[in-house]
Amino acid sequence: MILDGKKLAGDIETELSRRVAAIKEKSGGKTPILATILVGDDPASATYVRMKQNACRRVGMGSDAVELDKDTTTEQLLAVIDQLNRNEEVHGILLQHPVPAQIDERECFDRIALAKDVDGVTCLGFGRMAMGERAFGSATPAGIMTLLRHYEIPLSGKHAVVVGRSPILGKPMAQMLLNADCTVTICHSRTRGLPDLIRQADVVVGAVGRPEFIKGEWIKDGAVVVDAGYHPGGVGDIELSAVSERASAWTPVPGGVGPMTISTLITQTVEAAEAYYGVG
Ligand code: NAP
Repeated sequence: MILDGKKLAGDIETELSRRVAAIKEKSGGKTPILATILVGDDPASATYVRMKQNACRRVGMGSDAVELDKDTTTEQLLAVIDQLNRNEEVHGILLQHPVPAQIDERECFDRIALAKDVDGVTCLGFGRMAMGERAFGSATPAGIMTLLRHYEIPLSGKHAVVVGRSPILGKPMAQMLLNADCTVTICHSRTRGLPDLIRQADVVVGAVGRPEFIKGEWIKDGAVVVDAGYHPGGVGDIELSAVSERASAWTPVPGGVGPMTISTLITQTVEAAEAYYGVG
């Protein structure tokens, strides 16, 4: 089974357009607004931000683009975030990762008000999610969970192996799978015997950032394969061509996890606006 993130994200956008229209109607014409902050001139980051703004437009939401110079300091970025936190027209804040090295990214993420943390990047949001309290999930792993739920992939009691432990992907992914009653193994660059650990996995999540790093032969027949990676040439972090025939379900690259990340971001912005205006 192909876990078609592109199709599901499209269906979700249709539903979001209806919810945005309902917000407009009940709030006297207000539109949910996502503020995007792009620091520096990394072309890939600029593309990601543009894709997120386009998604906002498709569902009738607004986006407020803040672009800052590559020499921006932590203090300057914190001041921008403070301003957006106070701005009542802004419902969600996206600080595009990564920011230039001189900036304390963690401090800046954590300055985002919890109610506007629609990309799920704050420590407070992560902690609440981990404890099973209400919080916006980190967009990529939350999008993966939405995809797995949509295709009714059984998770309870399954052994999930997550390769990668980054704050925005691997760590929250592992925690969400744990919350879904998986037994979770988290692997990283110091892990020993990675192929053997992956061979035990009922569910494999590749979040490594290296093209086709996880080999098809490491993955057991019938596993669920989720590839968060995307690299030039249209390959992910997993050697998908070698597993697509043997996996019980798998995410294509592109068209699997990527669209679900953006879908989650805009869904959570709509939820934030609904909460603000008391709609829904
Ligand atoms: P990251 O911050 O670079 O983290 C990579 C992780 O992989 C780290 O935890 C690292 O371990 C681990 N790793 C590196 N080499 C390894 C090795 N030899 N064996 C086992 N683990 C190893 O990357 P990220 O931001 O989490 O992104 C991961 C992938 O997801 C990338 O391909 C990225 O493009 C993709 N991504 C996609 C989306 C989307 O919307 N589709 C969003 C975000 C990211 P250490 O912690 O020990 O260094």
